[in-house]
Amino acid sequence: MPTPAPKSQHVLVLNCGSSSLKFAIIDANTGHEIISGLAERLGAATPSVKYKYKGDKTLIDLEPEQAHAEAINTLVTLIKDHKLDEQLIAVGHRVVHGGEHFTKSVLINDQVIESITQAATLAPLHGHANLLGISSAQDSFKGLPQIAVFDTAFHQTMDKVAYLYALPYNLYTEFGVRRYGFHGTSHFYVAGQTAKLLNQPIEKSNFISAHLGNGCSVCAIKNGDSVDTSMGLTPLEGLVMGTRSGDIDPGLFNFLTTQLDYSAQQIDDLLNQKSGLLGISELSNDCRTIEEAATAGNQQAALALDMFCYRLSKQIASYMVPLQRLDALIFTGGIGENSDIIRKKVITQLGFLGMECDTQANLDARFGQQGVISTEQSRIKAVVMPTNEEWVIALDSANIVKEL
Ligand code: ADP
Repeated sequence: MPTPAPKSQHVLVLNCGSSSLKFAIIDANTGHEIISGLAERLGAATPSVKYKYKGDKTLIDLEPEQAHAEAINTLVTLIKDHKLDEQLIAVGHRVVHGGEHFTKSVLINDQVIESITQAATLAPLHGHANLLGISSAQDSFKGLPQIAVFDTAFHQTMDKVAYLYALPYNLYTEFGVRRYGFHGTSHFYVAGQTAKLLNQPIEKSNFISAHLGNGCSVCAIKNGDSVDTSMGLTPLEGLVMGTRSGDIDPGLFNFLTTQLDYSAQQIDDLLNQKSGLLGISELSNDCRTIEEAATAGNQQAALALDMFCYRLSKQIASYMVPLQRLDALIFTGGIGENSDIIRKKVITQLGFLGMECDTQANLDARFGQQGVISTEQSRIKAVVMPTNEEWVIALDSANIVKEL
């Protein structure tokens, strides 16, 4: 006899960072968010958990230095208090690095944990946080299937020509040094939604999606598959980001170590935490703050914005090589979904491709509104598509549970 379909499709989605934990219970059928929240400053002096349930926002202070395990315990209590546990069918984990092992989401077992541990050597900060999240959730949600959804999986369709660095080949074969790409769940989701919006099959769609949040990446999508993306071995490569430099001359390492006596850790910190919009503006990593300052006449803020847009436009234009034909440029992420200023600048810089911005549509498509923001005459469409990585994680988890 076939097993009856589970009554609810509620999935607890966990996104575990080194000092934070984002969580949400999502109905995989609809994408509806039942509860959501953020535990932050984990392991520091003033950790806390804040969450939103039925429109109410609540803040819970944790004890000093409490970290992921305690945050997850608080989450379990919360879920039980609101009687949300009975309807959960799975826990879906966002895992940043899947290395070459994972081309799709998987049910977590010992072998999967081992492969995630191996991949974690490529992105230690993210990887160890993800593993911590998984083991804490396994302890707290015994009996619930745990699913891993990888940021890298969507990009596993890239060709060697796109993913290899021009380094000695054995660094790839022996140590896995190659470009992996990230934000895969988001690029996959917005591409699918854009195909629906434009009423064309995803298997025949060529898109470039620009995920612009604190981290930023661009992905070239050919006939629905990722063929190139701007992030690499780690999420540091590519575009100018909030605090990350993106592409730099690797010769900088030599200069910083020999001339300025930097350690490897200091260089890592400089490139990941002190560069990007923050480094150039010397003001903030937050795009809104930079836009306001630039409008008020701050020259460095204006320069940071110009560099952000110039590098983004250059990266997008370069993807015409693998794509040859482009149906739409997609903007998503906090900046992509909200900054009409950045979108307009980029579309204008790409005018030579026959792209033209519709000023009113560009203003309208903000704060969660999707829409086509190019003019009728524009040869290539520009689209704003809010991302929803949590829903993809919930959907993948629900689909895997169905097969158990
Ligand atoms: P994360 O990568 O952490 O998920 P988000 O996708 O939420 O980040 O994006 C955060 C970025 O979006 C910040 O730089 C923020 O300033 C920017 N942002 C949010 N709203 C606006 C807005 N109205 N105008 C310009 N930028 C915005």
